[in-house]
Amino acid sequence: MHYLSTRDARPRPERIGFEDALLRGLAPDGGLYVPEALPRFAPDFIRDLRGRSYAEIAVRVMAPFLGDAVAPAEIERIAADSYRGFDHAAVAPLRQLGPDLWLLELFHGPTLAFKDYALQFVARLFDAALARRGQRVTIVGATSGDTGSAAIEACRDSAACDIFMLYPEGRVSEVQRRQMTSVAAANAHAIAIDGSFDDCQDLVKAMFADAPFRAAHNLSAVNSINWARIVAQIVYYFTAAVALGAPDRPVSFAVPTGNFGNVYAAYVARLLGLPIADLVIATNRNDILARFFNDGSMALRPVEPSLSPSMDIQVSSNFERLLFDLLGRDGGALGRAMTGFRARGSLQIGTEELGAARRLFAAHVVSDEETLDEIARAWRGSGVLVDPHTAVALAAARAHMTTRRDAAAPMVALATAHPAKFPAAVEKATHVHPSLPPHLADLMMRPERTIRLPNDLKAVQDFVAAHASPRRGAAA
Ligand SMILES: *Cc1c(COP(=O)(O)O)cnc(C)c1O
Repeated sequence: MHYLSTRDARPRPERIGFEDALLRGLAPDGGLYVPEALPRFAPDFIRDLRGRSYAEIAVRVMAPFLGDAVAPAEIERIAADSYRGFDHAAVAPLRQLGPDLWLLELFHGPTLAFKDYALQFVARLFDAALARRGQRVTIVGATSGDTGSAAIEACRDSAACDIFMLYPEGRVSEVQRRQMTSVAAANAHAIAIDGSFDDCQDLVKAMFADAPFRAAHNLSAVNSINWARIVAQIVYYFTAAVALGAPDRPVSFAVPTGNFGNVYAAYVARLLGLPIADLVIATNRNDILARFFNDGSMALRPVEPSLSPSMDIQVSSNFERLLFDLLGRDGGALGRAMTGFRARGSLQIGTEELGAARRLFAAHVVSDEETLDEIARAWRGSGVLVDPHTAVALAAARAHMTTRRDAAAPMVALATAHPAKFPAAVEKATHVHPSLPPHLADLMMRPERTIRLPNDLKAVQDFVAAHASPRRGAAA
């Protein structure tokens, strides 16, 4: 399979292989990599996934995307290794809440959020590719909580990566901070910055923009625009749908959405031939996506804090991949739309494109109050504690039940975080304190290694230079 940049407007766009798309992340023209064409899985292929383990399904679903870059036996080894440490034998189990309402639990990885499902796999792919090339990379990133812990946990003890995650001092939850600072690995560094999340992000951008620094340390990123993360997220849509009767019965999904990576993976699963009836985008009060799908206009507003902080986002980076398809895969038109969006803070699409978008997705906004009501309802009605992100998905799923296209399709809400990761909202709604699973039970007692730096580029660069391993090989 070959990959193109969404912003490549040349008559003959550059085509690259999987490994380059993996290691580059962002295309040099600022676009995102997407497959040139997708295969379509026959119903028999999907039927044959029934009863197989998560790792086996992962190998079968991901193989066409990895192409010649990774040998099938190596994909198998990496998949088995990635999901071995998860604390549920099914890796991504389903839990029934009602006659046709289900939760897909994506919090059984080491850091209790769904980002583990992709990052555990992608970090191992990075290691394998870098080992083959005899290279090392320095991964730098900014985090408001979940990505940082999942990325550090995925890269700890990696032979080819040093990782530096910047987080805003005092603005991540205690569980999130401890998950980053209690990792005793010489190559992993969580840095508290005296500033906001935006300051952290600006520092990371500035490090990438400093060409000599970038080259000296072979900087790389594992943020949510990396195509390999999307590929790894397609897998659980298959495991869930197949368990509920696909390909002989369609299934619907409600996805709590921030950067649009997770719900975009569902869209790709559908293009691959998985019968998905409705795809519901669930957002909190930061509802730019819902406004787009409801009236065709995407207009930026300031980010407002909510009870589901991992979705407090205005510009959903992966949305560009969908827009590329809506605009007929025209890199020139996409580039102009994105430049205009940056300049004016708004983006408008035509009625035809809007019609196409609305055939693909439905969107629902869930307020903080409705989020708390849903947490209480799930606890009272089913004895299940859900985290606030999951509650946003569940509330949107319930709201969508009456208008869904196919009443025979079960509705699956994605549970993207463990309730113990966001205990304050859960306790407020239920008066029950959600406890950490056994593998993290002693988290609050583990020693922390905290590094605190001012919001100053030079200070951060000096720290990275002093702690990154000596460089080997050239930049990807
Ligand atoms: C990252 C995250 C989301 C949003 O996922 P996107 O792929 O960015 O849309 C939702 N819930 C939780 C708990 C997350 O960590």
